[in-house]
Amino acid sequence: MNKNRKKILGYDIDLISFQDAIEYLKTRIDSKLGTHIITINPEIIEQADKNQDLNKIIKESELVIPDGVGIQIALKINGIKQERIPGVDLALELIKLSEKENYSIALIGAKEHVIKKTEQNLENEYPKLNIVYARNGYFNKDEENEIINNISQKNPQIVFAALGAPKQELFINECRKKLPNSTFIGIGGSFDVWAGEVERAPELFRKTGFEWLYRTIKQPERFKRIYKTLPVFLFKVIIECVNN
Ligand code: UDP
Repeated sequence: MNKNRKKILGYDIDLISFQDAIEYLKTRIDSKLGTHIITINPEIIEQADKNQDLNKIIKESELVIPDGVGIQIALKINGIKQERIPGVDLALELIKLSEKENYSIALIGAKEHVIKKTEQNLENEYPKLNIVYARNGYFNKDEENEIINNISQKNPQIVFAALGAPKQELFINECRKKLPNSTFIGIGGSFDVWAGEVERAPELFRKTGFEWLYRTIKQPERFKRIYKTLPVFLFKVIIECVNN
């Protein structure tokens, strides 16, 4: 499949529908083509501007999905109408696909009780799901090598890393060296949602692009992150658009 991409502030973003993203990923998994899915948003872009490693990882990744509403607005400023693809939704669809196709999966991230509950909930909901590895996301650099060795011995076809950005992207980058044929996705706080620790926003908020507002009301500490990043990001996008 030929994907269309649009560069925003130097970062390529895939212009793809949710369904096409799943089909694209299925083809890659079946063909054993290693894939790193980045769920891009303005905060990750801000971090990547300051972190060369993250910058390189994003630029070399095979699929960059427009996760944040900020990205959707940035594309709109550039005259492109693109549906938002929340990483948590794409990941859940990959879980369903994994059950159907019997793909082996690994889960890494979140606190110990959260990953345990996530595993339990997924096994209840998708009884044929083949989870070959699950671990919490709290470890130091020394433990990382051992974890990567353990994961690679299990040879999962898909690795879901919910460690928050940029930790998950850097971790995935290391893990890919041992598992070049696997698919990886960094999904932030998704295990907290799957474990039932954090509620997803009601559909009205999600459909209208205001999930961030709901999450900010529920977790006010997020406000600092968003209000500092989004206006500056959109300002830069407008300047870029005017200059092109
Ligand atoms: N986390 C982790 N290891 C760490 C730091 C964070 O596993 O060293 C987990 C944390 O428990 C939470 C997730 O990473 O489940 C980060 O969630 P957040 O909502 O900050 O991520 P976002 O969705 O905003 O990227």
